[in-house]
Amino acid sequence: MRAIRKTKPGPGLEVCEVPTPTCGATDVLIRVRHAGVCGSDVHIAEWDDWARGRVRPPVVVGHEFAGEIVEVGGDAGDEFAVGRLVTAEGHIVCGHCMQCRMGHGHICRNTSIIGVDRDGAFAEYVAMPASNVIPLDGIPTSIGAIMDPLGNAFHAVLAGDVPGSRLLILGCGPIGCFAVAIARAAGALQVIASDPRSQRRELARKMGAHLVIDPDHDDLHALVVQATGGEGVDLVCEMSGNPAAVAQALRSVRPGGRVNLLGLPPGDISLNLREEVIFKGITIYGVIGRRMYETWHHMRRFLSSGRLDPSPVITHRFPLEGIDDALRAITSGQAGKVILEIGG
Ligand SMILES: [Zn+2]
Ligand SMILES: [Zn+2]
Repeated sequence: MRAIRKTKPGPGLEVCEVPTPTCGATDVLIRVRHAGVCGSDVHIAEWDDWARGRVRPPVVVGHEFAGEIVEVGGDAGDEFAVGRLVTAEGHIVCGHCMQCRMGHGHICRNTSIIGVDRDGAFAEYVAMPASNVIPLDGIPTSIGAIMDPLGNAFHAVLAGDVPGSRLLILGCGPIGCFAVAIARAAGALQVIASDPRSQRRELARKMGAHLVIDPDHDDLHALVVQATGGEGVDLVCEMSGNPAAVAQALRSVRPGGRVNLLGLPPGDISLNLREEVIFKGITIYGVIGRRMYETWHHMRRFLSSGRLDPSPVITHRFPLEGIDDALRAITSGQAGKVILEIGG
């Protein structure tokens, strides 16, 4: 089959022929139709410090996908049949560490991620443990392919009291724009979004933001105070990892409010914990992955009921062979979500 592989240590990805994966007894084999390209794929392509420390080539990359079941393992259960359209949670967890047993598989100590730690989904076929597979139930595969990052946004927004609340979303890349739409669909009273890039602010507005802010030119804190009648927001979702934005998050949240951090800062950052966390009595929550599997069930209901349409965030589509163009679209900072059209 054709696949996009990190063949050896160093920059670059290769489109090449590799053996089709075999379907283990508890697996299903999926023919990939659509796949989402993600910032972490850029890191693997560029071979940055994180990739060098984590990825062991050769490995087929890609972790966001949806497609059609073509084979079901003998012990994979009877939920799945050939022909069913599915996506999958790309974090394969152990099921026996303390976190897994307490129902917190998203922070499993032994997580193996497809496309990072084992062969992934930028390929014509991918084998997945049946326990990770999610039926799409009418959701198109182009949307199924982005349910991984959409799930990050669901996790970030729904880990808070959204109905009737005022939210601030910092960073309007694809996950930030998803978060805007999810907050609206979940009943937020007011959604404020901030990003230095005008295309991203436009997309955030299109997804339902009431107010968009350019943090490089506007006084973000003053505008948030003004827009919330002096109170500050109830919930901040920090999606950028920018140290200045993390500081803004703590400043803009009201006393007793909540800050959910998803963006990865480049290194250590300094915060005024005394004044802005302890004395304000706020809660800070780290968002990693998707809760297994509450996040997936919530997301599927929002999508299949038509309550949420994330499709305007998808701005670019490329064939498998166009991976370099796809990566360039992401690093340009001009793109929303970028997907690959692979098969079917
Ligand atoms: Zn991703
Ligand atoms: Zn575990």
